Amino acid sequence: MRRVSIFGATGSIGQNTIDLIARHPDAYQVVALTGGRNIAQLARDARALRAEVAVTCHEDLLGDLKAALEGSGIEAAAGETAMQEAAARPADWVMSAIVGAAGLRPGLSALSQGATLALANKESMVCAGALMNATADASGATILPVDSEHSAVFQALVGEDMDAVERVIITASGGAFRDWSHEEMARATPEQAATHPNWDMGQRITIDSASLFNKAMELIETHEFFRIAPDRIETVIHPESMIHALVGFSDGALMAHLGPPDMRHAIGYALHWPDRKALPVDRLDLVALGQFTFREADPARYPALRLAREVMETGGLSGAVFNAAKEVAMDAFIDGRIGFLDMAGVVEEVLGRDKGHIDAEIALDNVLAADHFARQEASTVIAAMAQNR
Ligand code: NDP
Ligand code: MG
Repeated sequence: MRRVSIFGATGSIGQNTIDLIARHPDAYQVVALTGGRNIAQLARDARALRAEVAVTCHEDLLGDLKAALEGSGIEAAAGETAMQEAAARPADWVMSAIVGAAGLRPGLSALSQGATLALANKESMVCAGALMNATADASGATILPVDSEHSAVFQALVGEDMDAVERVIITASGGAFRDWSHEEMARATPEQAATHPNWDMGQRITIDSASLFNKAMELIETHEFFRIAPDRIETVIHPESMIHALVGFSDGALMAHLGPPDMRHAIGYALHWPDRKALPVDRLDLVALGQFTFREADPARYPALRLAREVMETGGLSGAVFNAAKEVAMDAFIDGRIGFLDMAGVVEEVLGRDKGHIDAEIALDNVLAADHFARQEASTVIAAMAQNR
């Protein structure tokens, strides 16, 4: 039996992962499931999968979790330290699907103990790609991409020589506002931004899809994960979301990866890698689809893309600053304190503020310090913006 853990089990990726694992109860021993506020779901899944331990990141919910697991024999734990301890439990395969920079430390713990880490938490790569790679190299652990675009690139590269790779193109759906004017976007509400035309995902990544901050993070993720130069990484808007990524080779060939917008493909690929096994996803009917379209992803319309280029060129800890400022800006947008288009302004302003943090050595303490600094600076920028609204 393979020992598996799922961090962020109660979220969209976590639930899709559980759907696949629950189909083969004899193949997996579930070690740890982690969640946040959704205690009922966490306890239900822990019982159904007979997990060894269930952990919520919120210390004040320990009593609720214990009550929900009463009589099951499953350990209940809560808080930051408990999350770290659960992440350090030996497991063969770990799904990293917490949302935000909070996913970094549990992912690093899993890598340190040598697990194969299926990485949905793109923030880990954006904040500390070099640290993730170095930790995996040191323990002999493997990181497998779960973000659909990166899974697609990974699959297109099997058996290929990296020296023959000329370019990588990741596609963007364009999100909720792809056909909206600038003026309409300026007035967009959080509810409108959290409605995705093609994918069913968590609230935050859906809002990031509308601003193309999600694609901006994925450009950085591509750069860090595949160690490809920024000028070889492109993005294009592909409203149908059927082609996830393309890899261009030196002989002119362009290998495209197609699939329905169902995350269980990329999760399942990482679960069964290096094999391919049957997965419960729809098969594409090309004739019914008829055609695929592409449009330019214009950095003038989507400043997040320009900022991602800046981060890739600057390197160092600029990704940690970029991500933390973006997380705080999104909280402010969701709370109605700033507008949709203001989020990019916050990130740009914070990125320009301190080079000291960005130039520090890439170590966990420095990443956390850069993250902390960016959150404080972003709050100051947002307070000033909110006053001028
Ligand atoms: P969700 O918001 O649906 O789920 C997030 C999970 O993290 C939940 O289990 C939540 O618990 C938990 N969580 C929230 N805050 C914290 C915290 N501070 N500490 C620990 N756990 C926390 O997100 P998604 O599943 O959509 O996304 C997860 C990750 O995967 C993100 O990094 C996203 O960018 C990436 N991803 C997602 C895709 C998708 O299709 N959804 C596609 C590609 C990448 P609870 O809900 O119980 O509070
Ligand atoms: Mg993606």
